[in-house]
Amino acid sequence: TSQISFRDVSKVYQTASGSVTALKGINLDVKPGEIFAVIGYSGAGKSTLVRLINGLEKVTSGSVEVNGFDVTNMTEHQLRKVRPEIGMIFQQFNLMQSKTVYENIAYPLRLAKWSKADMKARITELLHFVGLTEKAWVHPDELSGGQKQRVGIARALATKPSVLLADESTSALDPETTQDVLGLLRRVNEKLGVTIVVITHEMEVVRAIADRVAVLDNGDLIEQGPVDQIFETP
Ligand code: ADP
Ligand code: ADP
Repeated sequence: TSQISFRDVSKVYQTASGSVTALKGINLDVKPGEIFAVIGYSGAGKSTLVRLINGLEKVTSGSVEVNGFDVTNMTEHQLRKVRPEIGMIFQQFNLMQSKTVYENIAYPLRLAKWSKADMKARITELLHFVGLTEKAWVHPDELSGGQKQRVGIARALATKPSVLLADESTSALDPETTQDVLGLLRRVNEKLGVTIVVITHEMEVVRAIADRVAVLDNGDLIEQGPVDQIFETP
């Protein structure tokens, strides 16, 4: 069984100057507990693929299932129930600059209407997990890039999602910090059992972390399989 499955998914954007086909007949399966990478050049369709998983975009044809639920035709109301199941981290971290680390992590819990006590316990646990207990009351501009992404990871995990989407989550970081963040993602996968989908244009990221990989090229999924089968090790 798959945790995420794409069946014959196509996505066409309508623009003022015509239509752009971002994905063409994509079939893919992400299995529970794996780290799955999607690699491709800029414009290949990677962001579109992620936005279809969390319901930010609708398919033009085909279907996308997450945890057995077809997210293709969900209303905004139904999607609000599925979103806490799916965490997301970003290249530019997307932290609220005017809020403390604590408040940034609290944000999705407030949306999900957690009680104050449950929220506090959960945030304490998350800060410990990402190693930022001492930074709870500082603002993001006082943190390094790696620390910011660790806050992003804590926020993404707050509602205990079964899936974490990482969209170019190390592209803004130097090589050493990238290794740190990838190490944390591996721990999220191993210790918390969270399935991770990593979107990247960097082969090193795929090699460092992924179990399986899909290669997107200009909207086509041209390969999908175990990393060592798809990419010969040098
Ligand atoms: P990637 O993440 O791999 O760079 P994207 O999914 O962002 O790829 O883009 C795939 C294609 O779809 C590109 O040609 C891009 O210009 C186009 N595209 C993406 N989002 C939109 C949009 N909202 N409206 C129109 N075209 C879009
Ligand atoms: P406000 O309503 O306070 O203006 P926004 O909705 O504009 O807040 O979001 C502010 C920041 O929080 C943005 O950087 C955004 O990426 C992030 N954010 C928005 N929605 C969520 C969410 N569901 N989970 C985590 N972070 C979110």
